[in-house]
Formats: sequence, C-alpha cells, structure tokens
Amino acid sequence: MSLLCLGHASAGSALPFHALSPQKYLQQLWNTILLIALLLCTGVMVQAQRQSRQELSERDAELDLKQHIRRRLLALKTRRYHPGKPPRSRACEIDSCAVCLDQFHKSQWLRVLPCSHEFHRDCVDPWLLLQQTCPLCKRNILGENRPDTQLSPP
Ligand SMILES: [Zn+2]
Ligand SMILES: [Zn+2]
Repeated sequence: MSLLCLGHASAGSALPFHALSPQKYLQQLWNTILLIALLLCTGVMVQAQRQSRQELSERDAELDLKQHIRRRLLALKTRRYHPGKPPRSRACEIDSCAVCLDQFHKSQWLRVLPCSHEFHRDCVDPWLLLQQTCPLCKRNILGENRPDTQLSPP
C-alpha cells in the first residue's frame, strides 16, 4: 500500500507542467534558467581562466626566448666599418647590408654573425629578435643545439 502511494507521489511530481499551478510552473522555469545560466557562467569562467593561464605561459616562453636572443646578440661581435680595410673572412667582399640594401659607410657599427656575414647592427638586431637566423645564409644564431624545424623543407 505504502509502495503504491510512493509510486503515485513520484508520478505526481513528474506530471507535465500544465498540471502544476502557474506559480509553480514559473518557479520551476526560473530555477531551470538560473541553473543553465550558472552552468554557462562556470564554463565561461573556467575557459577564460585556462586561456589566460595558457597565454601567460606562452608570453613567459616568448620573453625567455627574447632574453636568450638578446644575450646571444650581446655575445656576437660588432665592429666599425672602415672602407678599404676588409676583414680577413670569407664574407669580406660584401660591403652592403642585406637587410636595408644600403652600402656600409665609414664608422657605422656592423654586427658580425657566427657565419661571418655582416649587417648594420641597427638593421639586423630587430631581425634576429624575430627570426634568429642570418638573413643571407639562414644559419641559426642560437647555436646548433636547437632543431631547425622551420628551415627544413616540407
Ligand atoms: Zn642595413
Ligand atoms: Zn650568414
């Protein structure tokens, strides 16, 4: 008998909405909307949090790389250009900057890369911060330890 009653009771709560009073119906509808809104908010917040954390770590990695490149740039040789006194290197015949295509002028600061290619220091430093490779021969200035994925043919 009691089991039957319970069955009836649960069946009663699962009745379609039109069997409920309008107030109860509205209350239930409102609860549902609130629940959905809450779920959406939580989802959006979690997503945003995850995204910001990811962006942060990406920015960190980028800053690390930039600092690493800056240190590497500081370790690279610079020299003042003196026409008529070519350095004893295999790139000695180059007397213009491959970045701005301008000729080297007297007393300009040049950056000498490990491949002995030379460029205006002011031209090649921003380039190296972005590319880390020699504009002429594409050799990586960060050393040979890093795998050069972007240079290998597809
Ligand atoms: Zn230049
Ligand atoms: Zn080079």
